Amino acid sequence: MPAVVGSETTERRSDGDWIVRRISGAAARKQYRCPGCEQEIRPATPHVVCWPDDRIADRRHWHTVCWTRRDRRIQPGR
Ligand SMILES: [Zn+2]
Repeated sequence: MPAVVGSETTERRSDGDWIVRRISGAAARKQYRCPGCEQEIRPATPHVVCWPDDRIADRRHWHTVCWTRRDRRIQPGR
């Protein structure tokens, strides 16, 4: 297992439990593409890294706001 740095929380979403790690601006040294809005997350931008609790290989970097909004786009039973 890789070393875990920073605080992680578990969030229950409509599609399961997700581990959410908050990345500070100081720790965000690379540029990522947010799967929520398809825009870049620029270096030094505080954001989150999320993955299904049993699939760390699927972790993705999200804008904090995009992650917060994500659940509204996958309303179950719609
Ligand atoms: Zn985004």
